[in-house]
Amino acid sequence: MSCIFCMIKNGDIPSKKAYEDEDILAFYDVNPQAPVHILVIPKEHIESVDCITSENSAVVAKIFEKIPQIAKDAGITNGYRVISNCGSDACQSVKHLHFHILG
Ligand code: 5GP
Ligand code: ZN
Repeated sequence: MSCIFCMIKNGDIPSKKAYEDEDILAFYDVNPQAPVHILVIPKEHIESVDCITSENSAVVAKIFEKIPQIAKDAGITNGYRVISNCGSDACQSVKHLHFHILG
């Protein structure tokens, strides 16, 4: 598996974790674009927003249920953005669904 986020999920590449459970992982972006920059991924390999279906969308709902707590635990107190880049024209560089939390 050459997916860098699957390697992070498996512990093959180290990361600074912000949150983890059986379905999702949140870790700090290696190249932060804001004072707090966290990536939230499903553990299941889903390529992008384009690949969300009725079969796999439960984990996406779970990610959004957890984002407020992840942001709060990371010390974000005054608002944040949630972004997902999808596809080439959006400059998605890692083809494993992820949501940026920028606070
Ligand atoms: P994208 O451009 O695909 O929306 O976002 C990919 C993000 O992954 C970028 O912000 C980039 O800095 C981050 N990233 C890429 N490789 C690694 C890595 O090995 N570790 C961590 N923590 N973040 C990474
Ligand atoms: Zn992956």
